[in-house]
Amino acid sequence: MENKKELRTWLDDMQLNHPLVIAGPCSAETEAQVLKIAHELKNTDVNYYRAGIWKPRTRPGNFEGVGALGLKWLQKVKEETGLKTATEVANRAHVELALEHDIDLLWIGARSTVSPFIVQEIADALKGTDKVILVKNPVNPDLPLWLGAIERLATSDIKKLGVIHRGFSTYEKTKYRNNPEWQLAIELQTKFPDLPLINDPSHITGNRDMILDISQTALDLNFDGLMIETHVDPDNAWSDAAQQVTPKALVQIMKDLKIRKETD
Ligand code: PEP
Ligand code: MN
Repeated sequence: MENKKELRTWLDDMQLNHPLVIAGPCSAETEAQVLKIAHELKNTDVNYYRAGIWKPRTRPGNFEGVGALGLKWLQKVKEETGLKTATEVANRAHVELALEHDIDLLWIGARSTVSPFIVQEIADALKGTDKVILVKNPVNPDLPLWLGAIERLATSDIKKLGVIHRGFSTYEKTKYRNNPEWQLAIELQTKFPDLPLINDPSHITGNRDMILDISQTALDLNFDGLMIETHVDPDNAWSDAAQQVTPKALVQIMKDLKIRKETD
């Protein structure tokens, strides 16, 4: 792990701060909500502004996202704040729309990584892209599925590929929403040492009070970045209310984290 940073290619080339920070709401709800959060995250450590616009919910009957309309809101975020933008894509049409709207970072969600056909469709639609593409781990603790998704994308000539560790569902209840199973992320890292590894403490914990702890563990394990769901009114968020933090709380988390310098 000592020389891991030397292997960083696109992340180093982009000269982004360490750790990389992706923040913003679980879901884009309204234009006003998206812009308000973005303005509060401007001039912080945040590099990429995330907002889910296509939301693959486990059970029907929940908010499934505003759809393509949200892409315009993200474009406005970039114009008004200069923040780069990020959203989840789950099929070819999503990829095409996101690329048309110049979204800077696309990620594949945990419910898509489980499906080789969907991953292949997305990989084909992304062929040769120079956008940042991140692959979340699959819902269940199945390392080969995660590796397979990465391999499909890697053969599509994607120049800026990375992974997001968001924990794994378990049948038994634990204090986490999704058990971290850190050893799976570490094993993945040994197999693909040059892929930036981002931690998603929001979906691991399901609880804003544990975000700092999990983020610190991730940085201690040499993760390259964090994706933290952030909302101006977390309790009234349309999805994942319990785990979102306010922009102010995010700034405090970043201050409280002990960040190892590259020279350490
Ligand atoms: C999300 O990032 O809001 C999301 C749906 O995450 P996951 O795919 O990890 O459940
Ligand atoms: Mn979420």
